Amino acid sequence: MYEPTGSPRDAASTIFNLPGYRVVDAADVPDGARRVLIESILAPGCPTCGVVATRVHSRRRQRLRDVPIGGAVEVVWAKRRWFCDEPSCGRGTFAEATEEVPRYARSTTRLKSDLVSAVITSGRAASEVARAHGVSWWMVQAALAAATMLLPSVDTVHVTRLGVDEHRYRSVRFFRTDQGDWKRFEPWMTTLVDLGTGQVLGVVDGRDSTAVGDWLAERSNSWLERVEIVAIDPSAAFRKALRTYLPQAAVSVDKFHLVKLANDMVTTVRQRLARTQHGRRGRKNDPAWAHRMLLLRLTCTGRSRFWRFSRVRAGERFAQCGSDTLTGWCFCGR
Ligand SMILES: [Zn+2]
Repeated sequence: MYEPTGSPRDAASTIFNLPGYRVVDAADVPDGARRVLIESILAPGCPTCGVVATRVHSRRRQRLRDVPIGGAVEVVWAKRRWFCDEPSCGRGTFAEATEEVPRYARSTTRLKSDLVSAVITSGRAASEVARAHGVSWWMVQAALAAATMLLPSVDTVHVTRLGVDEHRYRSVRFFRTDQGDWKRFEPWMTTLVDLGTGQVLGVVDGRDSTAVGDWLAERSNSWLERVEIVAIDPSAAFRKALRTYLPQAAVSVDKFHLVKLANDMVTTVRQRLARTQHGRRGRKNDPAWAHRMLLLRLTCTGRSRFWRFSRVRAGERFAQCGSDTLTGWCFCGR
């Protein structure tokens, strides 16, 4: 015999699936969306004394922003005000608040959580997430700001592997000086990360050795001595600061930049050989250029038998193009 073991719940409430709420009514509205009327399931406790309320004082309707469910949904909460019947409590009435819609909130907690997740986990732009959820850009930014956590003091974090990388956080800006000239401003910043945990340790203005050096100068000697490896992109900007403050640390370069540099070098060699051998720029039918993409892709991908076969085939073809190109390819591929 079949016997339900869970609490009975109507189909609309199950599909809407907002914890602590049930669907009272649903209707189509003229603009193609749907209006869903909901109410909370449980009577709330008084925020002052905690006694669970039993008498409703009044009702009013409040619109809520919520996640889209099969399209746009207009959510209306039949919100109740309750009496507190505890004689010793000074509060006469109070409005209900839930975990999904805290006091003074106009959006559900699950919507804010979805916005943060869409930006951080999926890496989508805040403006794109705002459009997809039908909310403003400001709301996405507010949800992100509320979700940020306060980092602990950097000096209490034991870092053995430090990552340093630069980012341009907005497009180039131009400002007019007092003399009336236009001055170009490159909005760069440098982020320092604990590679062991992925935790951001600091963000400094600019991308030169001075900015990183000033940040490292604020650390104690014991903190600096613990750093064993520093990962940077292969630019000379940070090297001066690293030589000064972290002379004992080994410098590591990430694979992406290393492969890119190697591929750039092969291209340079290929261009030089074309001018030397043919007295002109390389053409797409020249052997060294015909298999260019095959060579570049071989350096970055491929773990299969096809890759090994293609690698040998590419070696044979590039051997015909000159020893310099072959040397460049060997360097690039290893
Ligand atoms: Zn009370």
